[in-house]
Amino acid sequence: MQKAGGARESIAADKETAMESCIFCGIQAGTIPSARLYETDNLYAFLDIAPANKGHALLIPRTHCADILGVDPALGREVLEAMQRIARAVVSVTGARGFNIIQNNGRVAGQEVDHLHWHIIPRFERSEMPLWKQGAYESQEEMNRLATAIRVQIGI
Ligand code: 5GP
Ligand code: ZN
Repeated sequence: MQKAGGARESIAADKETAMESCIFCGIQAGTIPSARLYETDNLYAFLDIAPANKGHALLIPRTHCADILGVDPALGREVLEAMQRIARAVVSVTGARGFNIIQNNGRVAGQEVDHLHWHIIPRFERSEMPLWKQGAYESQEEMNRLATAIRVQIGI
């Protein structure tokens, strides 16, 4: 029979294995090369190797977590400050007319690297990158029902 601590130990071991094989853990540690843009004790930013546009940056927390649900919310202020500084510099250097900040969670949402990262993508033309196709609700009532269910789930 497994000891009480067994499950906890194996979850910790799984996380260690994920971090050892994580390319972005290696990049922030400097064991895998990257084109560095910005760093603090908690954050690291570098150029995406396959950019949507040249200047496409990635911002990551140094501490491994798979997606937005795993990160310490206390990091929020530092993340916003880093985004502003990186985006201003990328726009200024590339001559972009705007930029997108995108963050994918899960394969179905387009996430390929399972270490939380924000994309900062300089934009030059509206037509160069499709965003989402706009849909519709069947009725105002359907929309209200969904909003109510989500509010209840949030717990406010
Ligand atoms: P995701 O699809 O997970 O949101 O985005 C992952 C991003 O990481 C992709 O845009 C991809 O080009 C980038 N990427 C994957 N591997 C590397 C790498 O080794 N170095 C750099 N600089 N970017 C990478
Ligand atoms: Zn990682």
